[in-house]
Amino acid sequence: MAPIAENILRIRKELPPEVTLVAVSKFHPVEALKEAYAAGQRVFGESRPQELADKAVELSGVCPGVEWHFIGHLQTNKIKMVLPYVTMVQSVDSVNLLSELSRRSLEYGRTTDVLLEVHIGAEKTKQGFAEEEVLEVLFDADRFPGVRFRGLMGMATNTDDESVIEADFCRIDSLMAYLKDLFPELTAFDQLSIGMSGDWRIALRHGATAVRIGTAIFGGREPR
Ligand SMILES: *Cc1c(COP(=O)(O)O)cnc(C)c1O
Repeated sequence: MAPIAENILRIRKELPPEVTLVAVSKFHPVEALKEAYAAGQRVFGESRPQELADKAVELSGVCPGVEWHFIGHLQTNKIKMVLPYVTMVQSVDSVNLLSELSRRSLEYGRTTDVLLEVHIGAEKTKQGFAEEEVLEVLFDADRFPGVRFRGLMGMATNTDDESVIEADFCRIDSLMAYLKDLFPELTAFDQLSIGMSGDWRIALRHGATAVRIGTAIFGGREPR
């Protein structure tokens, strides 16, 4: 069996059926995505607007039923590039982006599913809302009628120390529980996207409903 298909089936076997596997295909050619598709993979994550749009166009028609999730930093002037293709933006990291996503979605006559990216890692540079900012956004949820709040996304500290990763995932899992409790009117707020190639097994122990896996499926990538 082809290696990509083998990787997907092996990971799938360990994932509870209700957990979404997002195959992070950034920097990999469409041939690799087609191989994943042939193995049954339907949800793909991309982090650059142009790359997502190009791949979506190339695969449309040949690979029906593919869902695109945007997972990278999204500049507001690039929203229109991804909006025709994405079912979800997992990486909403500012109120400004949220406003524009909402406005543009309404223009397109749709609503867009979003996750709020929460800064849980120790790195100073990582984007995302602070935990208390997430609260403020959700108290104002009515201001963003073009989006549907689906949950949270987070990246653990980049470290080999499992206890640090556990602590990061525990915090976002608790925040998720707290928010569900506080905002019962947000009935679709049920997604927790945590876990990547190096830490998805840990994420599963802390409430992950979606894992975003690139390297462990497609192999290494050369950033462009
Ligand atoms: C690249 C990326 C991933 C996948 O990382 P791997 O370690 O290759 O699995 C997951 N989430 C986000 C936000 C990414 O940018």
